[in-house]
Amino acid sequence: MKRAIYPGTFDPVSLGHIDIIKRASLIVDELIIGVLHNPAKTPLFSVDERVKMLEEIAEDFPNVRVETFDGLLADFAKKMDARLIVRGLRVVTDFDYELQIAQTNRVLNHEIDTMFFVTDLKYSYLSSTTIRETAYFGGDVSKFVSPKTIPWIDRKMKELHK
Ligand code: ADP
Repeated sequence: MKRAIYPGTFDPVSLGHIDIIKRASLIVDELIIGVLHNPAKTPLFSVDERVKMLEEIAEDFPNVRVETFDGLLADFAKKMDARLIVRGLRVVTDFDYELQIAQTNRVLNHEIDTMFFVTDLKYSYLSSTTIRETAYFGGDVSKFVSPKTIPWIDRKMKELHK
């Protein structure tokens, strides 16, 4: 059974993330989306909100499920009995960082391999940061996220602007 983990913050999940989920789910038996709960960071969406948003997306993919993790990705992979990590590469600068992480993970757990997906051209400019900023200033995010995610963003912006 080929089981892979797609880890990330997903704050919020974008069409770029969904494209990677879709493509990865076609080549592995099971894809686990690992939602990072990093107490040192303060994401816009809580870990519960990010999990629920991703579960709505995962409904469309029978072999995809969502889990949370904190601490080391290498440990989480071991716990999930997964040897493959999926990451997306958007720009060259992503590569520097991702290479370092992939190599570190292999030192920590030699059974782990990282599989990179080159982002589809139409999503290469997309980042959760620009989505959050666009939403904060009242911009239309419908070209960046799934229609399922829009109510989550609208609710969060209402809370913030109260
Ligand atoms: P992290 O904070 O760990 O980088 P993100 O949620 O920003 O988490 O991203 C998770 C993964 O999705 C990373 O591998 C990242 O390169 C990839 N990714 C982010 N945005 C896009 C996009 N627009 N297209 C494809 N992959 C993306």
